[in-house]
Amino acid sequence: MEDQRVTPAKPRSGSEIILFPLPLQGHITPMLQLGNILYSRGFSITIVHTHFNSPKSSNYPHFDFRPIPNGFLEGQASTVDFIALVTLMNVTCVGPFRDCLAKLLSDASEDRISCCLITDPVWHFTQAVADELRVPRMVLRTSSISSFLAFCALPLMREKGYLPLQDSRLEDAVPELPPLKVKDLHVINTKDPEDVLRLIVAMAETIQASSGLIFNSFEELEPAKLAECRRRFSVPIFTVGPFHKQSVEPSSSLLPQDRSSIPWLDKQEKPKSVLYVSFGSLSIVSEAQFLEIAWGLANSGRHFLWVVRPGSVRGSEWLEALPSGFLEGLDGRGHIVRWAPQHEVLAHPTVGGFWTHNGWNSTLEAVCEGVPMMCMPFFGDQRVNARYVRDEWRVGLHLEYKVERREIEDAIRRLMGGEERKEMRERMKALKRKVDECLKEGGSSYRSLQELTEYLASF
Ligand code: UDP
Repeated sequence: MEDQRVTPAKPRSGSEIILFPLPLQGHITPMLQLGNILYSRGFSITIVHTHFNSPKSSNYPHFDFRPIPNGFLEGQASTVDFIALVTLMNVTCVGPFRDCLAKLLSDASEDRISCCLITDPVWHFTQAVADELRVPRMVLRTSSISSFLAFCALPLMREKGYLPLQDSRLEDAVPELPPLKVKDLHVINTKDPEDVLRLIVAMAETIQASSGLIFNSFEELEPAKLAECRRRFSVPIFTVGPFHKQSVEPSSSLLPQDRSSIPWLDKQEKPKSVLYVSFGSLSIVSEAQFLEIAWGLANSGRHFLWVVRPGSVRGSEWLEALPSGFLEGLDGRGHIVRWAPQHEVLAHPTVGGFWTHNGWNSTLEAVCEGVPMMCMPFFGDQRVNARYVRDEWRVGLHLEYKVERREIEDAIRRLMGGEERKEMRERMKALKRKVDECLKEGGSSYRSLQELTEYLASF
C-alpha cells in the first residue's frame, strides 16, 4: 500500500535541506538518517519522495514530506529489475520533481530561507533541474567508497575485457581495483545491460557537476579509496558515517518489524551464541537454495535467528517450501521472522555471527556492533563489500562457491567457534574501536560532519 499522507508543512527556520532518496530500502534508510543528523544541527528537512515505496511519514513528524507521482502505471515497475526501474524513473520523474522543487524553492524564497538539495546520485536527472532552478545539489552515495569506485570503473572493466564475465577468468585478480577478483565486479541482471553503463556515465558526470559528495562511511575504514575518490572527483567530499550511530532513529523500515526476535534472543543463555541470518530487502533465492540454507542451519547445531522476507523464495509466499516437521525438529534452536529490528538484533549480547548478503547498510551495521560475518553476496556492490570483509578487514568468511548444506554447515562452525573465530573477533574489536574513535569529538566523521554543516549553511 502506498503511504500518501503528507505531514502539514512545519514552520521553517534556518536553511532548508531538501532530500530526494531513491525508493529502495537500502537507499531510503541512510537518506532519512542523514536527514535526522542535519535536523539535529538546526536544518529544516523536507523529503521529496515517489509514491512507489514511499517512506513512512508518520515516523518522522519533524520532517515535511512531499510525495510526487511516479509517472508510470502500477505494475510497470518492480524492484526485481531495479536498473530498468531507475532508468524508467529518471525519465518519468523529471516533470513531477521539477514542479515540486520549484514550489518548494518559491515558498522558501518568500520566507527568505536558503535551500540545498541532496539526492541519491542515481537520480542523475536532478542535476539539470537543480541547475535550471539555481539551487545547489549535493549527492549522498549510500554504498561504500570502494564499491562506488568499482561501480564507476565498469566501463573501463569492459574496455579491458574483464566484462562480460568469462568463467575461465573469475578467480583472476583485477590489478586496477585491488583486492577485487574478476568475479567481484558488479553484475546486475537487467533487461538491457547497456542501461547499466549509461547509468554509470550519467551518474559520474552529474556528480562531477554537483556541489559535493557525501558517504555513509568513515575515513579510517577506506583511507586509500577515499584518497582515490578525491583524485577522481574534484568536488568536496564528506565522510560522515556511520549515520545510524549518530541519530536517535525512528524506524525507516518499509516492512513491519517482527519484535518477537528480541524476547527470543533474551531467552538464549550463552553470550555470542546465536547466528543472525538476513539477506536484505531485495535478494531472492531459488527453492533449492532455500532448502540448502535451511538444512545447513539445522545441521550446524547452532542457534539461529533467520529473516525470511515474504517473496524472497522464488515461487513461494513465505515458508511453504520447508519440509513438514522442519521447525518442530529444531527443538527451539531456530526462530524465523519476516523482518527483524536488525540494529537491535546485531547489538544483542547473544548474537555472535551474521550470515549476510553484504548490502552496505548491513555490513556497516555489523562492523559497528563488532559482529563477524559469513558473506553470501548476491549482486552489485555486495560482492565488493564481501571481498573487503574477507580479504581487507579480515572480519568474516566467504561462502564463495555454492549454496550447499555441508559447505554452509562447515562455514557456520568456523564462524561460531574455533581459532579462526577468535582472530576475526579480535580484528572486529579493533574495527569497532575505530568506529567509536571517528565519532568522538575531534574524530574524522565528527570533523567531517562539522565541515558539512558549515558548508550547507554557506549556501
Ligand atoms: N533490515 C532490517 N530488518 C531485516 C533485514 C534488514 O531492518 O530483517 C535493514 C537493515 O538493518 C539495513 C537494511 O534493511 O539497514 C538493508 O540494507 P542493505 O544495504 O544491507 O541491503 P539491501 O536491502 O539494500 O540489499
